Amino acid sequence: MAKIKEVRCIRTRTNGTWVIVKIITDQPGLYGIGSASEHYHAATVVTAIEESLGPMLIGREVSRIEDIWQSLFTSGYWRAGSILNAALGGIDMALWDIKGKEAGMPVYDLLGGASRAAVPCYAHAGGQDHEALVDDIQRYIDEGWPVIRCQLGGYGGGGFLDDAIKPKNAWSDAAAFDDEAYLEAIPAMFDFLRKRLGFGPKLTHDVHEHLRPQVAVALAKRLEDYRLYFLEDVLAPEQIDWFRLMRQQCTTPQAMGELFVNVHEYLPLISERLIDFVRVRVSKGGGITPCRKIATLCEFYGVNTAWQEGGDNDPVNQAAAMHLDMSSYSFGIQEENHFSDEELEAFPGHATMDGGYMYSNGQPGLGIDIDEEKAAKLLKAEPLKAYFAAADRRADGSIVRP
Ligand SMILES: [Mg+2]
Repeated sequence: MAKIKEVRCIRTRTNGTWVIVKIITDQPGLYGIGSASEHYHAATVVTAIEESLGPMLIGREVSRIEDIWQSLFTSGYWRAGSILNAALGGIDMALWDIKGKEAGMPVYDLLGGASRAAVPCYAHAGGQDHEALVDDIQRYIDEGWPVIRCQLGGYGGGGFLDDAIKPKNAWSDAAAFDDEAYLEAIPAMFDFLRKRLGFGPKLTHDVHEHLRPQVAVALAKRLEDYRLYFLEDVLAPEQIDWFRLMRQQCTTPQAMGELFVNVHEYLPLISERLIDFVRVRVSKGGGITPCRKIATLCEFYGVNTAWQEGGDNDPVNQAAAMHLDMSSYSFGIQEENHFSDEELEAFPGHATMDGGYMYSNGQPGLGIDIDEEKAAKLLKAEPLKAYFAAADRRADGSIVRP
């Protein structure tokens, strides 16, 4: 039985925002990797793993993943949270990676085996105006993507006013976010898209939690006629009780959960069937161990999974999501990611995309490794872009929650 000998972190990408956990065993050449990436608090996660959680693992049997997860989850008495979940998630993935290598099976085989041939993914289309957006969507349709996310402008696009009425001592000249402008812009966008593209393409939209809850309900209702595949993050995680009211108002499918770090956030939404897709990030949910339980819970309640990916995720988290996608009957759709060639070369065995489908290489464990020399070359120091941290503000200067 392999025992844990060493737990360490490898930081890569610009500013070392990708944190890869490497667990080395006492068996020759046997190790596993996991994703604990944390764009803004990478050093904090590394400290949690290398100075707190990791030392508790030395000498423990790799195979007891559930027991290790439960003991680490309560090891600080206080549970969960973004940092500790990411640390635990990275460790958990590395343990599943090792278990798969020991068994000679891909992780999805350990989880019950493939329940689909490959993983359908959704693409991110965007444009500064309707014409640019429709061109981008058409490009993805031509490439064969089954579902496409449609955004006006960049992160949280739509609803920004250059001519907002601001106070005399305005804090900034930047365009101000306006809830009512957003409520006009996005239904108009889908009206244009459906007239141009028809109802064949499966389309989604991500609100990035920007709206006041009342406006969020109104938006979901107004989008009903455009038959979205789902509406994403229409409410902030602090306002999820509003989903009960939204459900009574309209049938627009709801996707929610990329910021969730606690079972009490997603449990009521799934068990009361208040959302249609749960979008926890696998590492932030605490790894494969808790996320496979979420997937099973979803199956019983008729909810689907759509594990979060996105700009700051790494290829190891993507691999973990893919193994859950391959094996979970409740899988709905997978968010895609966009890595550079240089980044992918540092992660041999990474999942591959062809058209709108993601494919596993079928190798034992997660099937992905890290080339530490190439990973080191991705490390560059640049000013950290705070694109989530209160970048958007209303006309009076107050923060729009990201
Ligand atoms: Mg989102």
